[in-house]
Amino acid sequence: MAWTLPRHIRDVAERGLDRQVRLAVTGLSRAGKTAFLTSLINQLRHAGLDAQLHLIKASREGRLLGAKRELQPDLSLARFPYDEALSSLGETPPRWPTPTRGMSELRLSIRYKSERPSKRLLGETSTLTLDLIDYPGEWLLDLPMLRQSFLDWSQTMNALLTPSRRTHMAEWLEAQSDLSPDQPADEQQLADLSAHYTEGLHRVRNNGGYFIQPGRFLLPGELAGAPVLQFFPLLSCADWSDEALEALPPESLYKTLKARFDHYLKTVITPFYRQHFQRFDRQVVLVDVLTALNSGPEAFDELRTTMEALMQSFSYGRAGLINRLFAPRIDKLAIAATKADHVTPDQHAALVELLTQLMNEPLNDLRFGDIESKAFALASIAATEARRLEEHDAQALSGTTLEGEHVLMFPGEVPSKLPDAAFWARQGFQFTGFRPRPHTEGPLPHLRMDALLDWLLGDKWQ
Ligand code: GDP
Repeated sequence: MAWTLPRHIRDVAERGLDRQVRLAVTGLSRAGKTAFLTSLINQLRHAGLDAQLHLIKASREGRLLGAKRELQPDLSLARFPYDEALSSLGETPPRWPTPTRGMSELRLSIRYKSERPSKRLLGETSTLTLDLIDYPGEWLLDLPMLRQSFLDWSQTMNALLTPSRRTHMAEWLEAQSDLSPDQPADEQQLADLSAHYTEGLHRVRNNGGYFIQPGRFLLPGELAGAPVLQFFPLLSCADWSDEALEALPPESLYKTLKARFDHYLKTVITPFYRQHFQRFDRQVVLVDVLTALNSGPEAFDELRTTMEALMQSFSYGRAGLINRLFAPRIDKLAIAATKADHVTPDQHAALVELLTQLMNEPLNDLRFGDIESKAFALASIAATEARRLEEHDAQALSGTTLEGEHVLMFPGEVPSKLPDAAFWARQGFQFTGFRPRPHTEGPLPHLRMDALLDWLLGDKWQ
C-alpha cells in the first residue's frame, strides 16, 4: 500500500522541491512577442484539459495537470495584458492583440505529476512557478553602446547612414547640419532635434530597417518624453580632434550631448541589465524571418547583422569585461522563426534551416558560452490551415486576409540557405498578412508551440 507523509511535513518538503523559472521572451518589434506570450499562457491554461500539446512529454503522459495565474511578484512592472489580448482575438472580426511596448510580466503556477518516484512519495502533485517576462529586443541593441564613448558612437551612427537611411532621416540631417560642437547648448533645440532624430528612427524601422540605436528611442516604455532620451549623434564631431573636443566647456553642445549619452548608459542601459536581464533563467528569442524574406535583400541582410548585435547580450562566454559584468544565468535559449503558418508545412524544415544559418555566428558563441540553444519554426496563433491540393499534388494555405478576403494560396518556397542573387531575382516568395481565425473558447490554434515548451521546460516537469 502506498504511504504519504503527514500534510505539514509534505508542505514544507514540497516548498523545498518547488521550482521557479524566470522565462524571458524577446524579439524586435512585430517579431510576434505579444502573440507568442498570449498563446503560451493560453496553451498552459488549457493543459490537462483540451490543449493540443502532444509534443510535450509530460502532457502526453497525462502529468501536466493545469496552470493558474498568480499575483505578479514585481509590482513595479506592467502586467502582461493577457485578457485584453484574448478579447481582441474574440472580436468579430477577430483582431490581433495590440503589441506590448515595454517590459511586462505574468506569473503562472503549473501543477504537474512528477515522474520521479522519490517526489511522488511526497504527495500527488508538484508545482512549477513560471514567471514570464516580455521585453523589446531593441533594448538589447544598446549593449554595444556601453563599450563606446559619445564620440565613438557618433562616428558609428554616421557610418550607418546609407542612402536609404539618409532619406528617412532627412529632416534631422537638415536640422543638425549647421551645429558645431562648441556652440552653447540650448534645451529647446536639443528637445526638437531629438524629436526629429526619433521620428527618423521610426521611419527607418517602418521601411524595413532593423538596427536602431538607442533602442529606447523606438520603444521608450515608461521613459517616453523623459529628458534622458533627448540626445543624438553629433556628426560634426568628425571635423574636430579628440583633444579639442575634450577641452570644450561643460555648457557646450558637445559636452552636453556627451553628458546625456553617459547618463543614458548609466541610468537606462545598465539598470536594465542589472535588475532584470541578469535574473532571467531561460530565454526565447523570436525572429520574423519571413517578413524579412518578403522585404528583399537589404532588409534580410540588415536583419542578420541586427540579430548578431542583439545576441551579443547572450554570448558572454567568449566576451570581455562588459558581458561578464552582465552575464545572465540563462542556461537554455530557444530561437524561433515566428508566423510559420504563413508557409505550407512542407516548408517548415527549410525555415528552421534558414534561421540556423541566419544566426550561425551567435549560435556558435552560445555553444562556446555553455548555453544550450535550439532553433524552431512555429506559429503562436495559427491563422491559416494547410490543404492538400490533390489535382496539383501540392500543399496550399487557406485563410482570411487582413482585408477580409478568403484565399487559398501557395506563398512560395523558403530557401534553406541564405538566399543568393538568383533567389532575389526570382522573388519566389509572396507573403500576405492573415486575420486570426475566429476564437471563442478553448485553446488557440498553434504550430509547434508544444515542441518549444517541451525543449525549454521539459526538465522542470520531470
Ligand atoms: P510584437 O511587437 O513582437 O509584440 O509582435 P506581435 O505579437 O504584436 O505580432 C505582430 C504581428 O505579427 C501581429 O499583429 C500579427 O499580424 C502577426 N503575427 C504574430 N504572430 C503570428 C502568428 O503566429 N501567425 C500569424 N499569421 N501572424 C502572426
